[in-house]
Amino acid sequence: MSKEHNPFKIAQAQLDEAAEYLKLDPGTHEMLRWPMRELHVTIPVRMDDGTVKVFQGFRVQYNDALGPTKGGIRWHPAETIDTVRALAAWMTWKTAIVNLPYGGGKGGIICNPKEMSEREKERLARGYIRALGRFIGPEKDIPAPDVYTTPQIMAWMMDEYSKIVGYNAFGVITGKPIRIGGSLGRGDATARGGMYTLREAAKVNGIELKGARVAIQGFGNAGQFAHKLVTELFGSKVVAVSDSKGGIYNPDGLNFEEVLKVKRETGSVVNYEKADKISNEELLELDVDVLLPAALENVITEENAARIKAKIIVELANGPTTPEADKILHNNGKFVVPDFLANAGGVTVSYFEWVQNITGYYWTAEEVYEKLDKKMTQAFHDMYEMYKEKNVHPRLAAYLVSVSRVVEAMKLRGWV
Ligand code: NAD
Repeated sequence: MSKEHNPFKIAQAQLDEAAEYLKLDPGTHEMLRWPMRELHVTIPVRMDDGTVKVFQGFRVQYNDALGPTKGGIRWHPAETIDTVRALAAWMTWKTAIVNLPYGGGKGGIICNPKEMSEREKERLARGYIRALGRFIGPEKDIPAPDVYTTPQIMAWMMDEYSKIVGYNAFGVITGKPIRIGGSLGRGDATARGGMYTLREAAKVNGIELKGARVAIQGFGNAGQFAHKLVTELFGSKVVAVSDSKGGIYNPDGLNFEEVLKVKRETGSVVNYEKADKISNEELLELDVDVLLPAALENVITEENAARIKAKIIVELANGPTTPEADKILHNNGKFVVPDFLANAGGVTVSYFEWVQNITGYYWTAEEVYEKLDKKMTQAFHDMYEMYKEKNVHPRLAAYLVSVSRVVEAMKLRGWV
């Protein structure tokens, strides 16, 4: 990992590299290094025992040159404003690479939802929206679920906002339950979007996905759907999966339904019997064709990058590869589909949810998948064209595409 652990400093350093490459003028570069707006709020919540607890919350609107800002709300005891700023910056590049008419935003509340009752969570959700008031809105800033926030929390937030403005404002927030304006196809959108980029990466690298060996780190929302979809869509063979307790490996392939059942019943994939136990470190270095990191950040580092054998790495997780490792992988002929492109399927279907809310016309799951495929495929090839043209690693290529789009919008609007 970079010597600097502050995520916002890392986000700024990544931008600096792209800015240098694009020869951005100093004013434009400086404008992109900082959030355009942020709001810090204090939320009093009446707890179940009758006392009042006061929570700190944030909402960062990083850059809205391309459209209203969009990004999740995190509830975490260790939340910091710099984490929220960094994530809002990354949302700016993520929405730009998939060509959504959005800027980037992010929100957070310092709290521990695991220690709160449902009623306390509801009061906190509603209090946060009252505190943000008119800072957000379907045409301004559209939140969504993120770490420890759920469709139910989105439902309360949408309801509170609707009370403030006096009408049903479904389009103020995405990731809602289906009955109140959620979109079909949202559940597996991140993994599915990643699969479309994998298909394109395999095509341009001349790799046959049917029968290809796949290893997946992480067996949560992203990892589980990736296992299911890579098998269903391409006939690939998932030979290894893992979770926080460790990994399992069977060169003949792992049956998705069976592994899922063991994970649900025992809490971990390691209790699956028809496989050898391996560590998370070993999983990354297996002799496979495709590696799907879908758990944590900073797992592929300068220490292990040279031992990675997979030809294609699709980053479903955020930040699994350090900048030093990126260069090693690139020099070794490995192809990395970078996180903010690979896992953009979630925000893309969030965008579809918002479009359906503001038009009042709802799509079938098949329509959602088809439109998602088009968006992800186009985004992949926009990145790939830049990659070939400039001969840089795919992450920098993706940055160059996204930053150029935001800069073009700022210039057209006369900001810089
Ligand atoms: P999740 O909480 O559902 O699952 C995380 C998985 O990682 C779990 O199986 C957990 O056991 C595993 N894990 C935890 N510690 C581990 C360790 N030390 N080694 C190996 N595995 C470990 O989370 P998720 O929603 O699947 O998200 C995973 C990654 O994908 C995160 O980086 C997240 O930011 C990113 N992502 C997810 C979405 C989405 O829509 N779910 C969208 C964009 C990005």
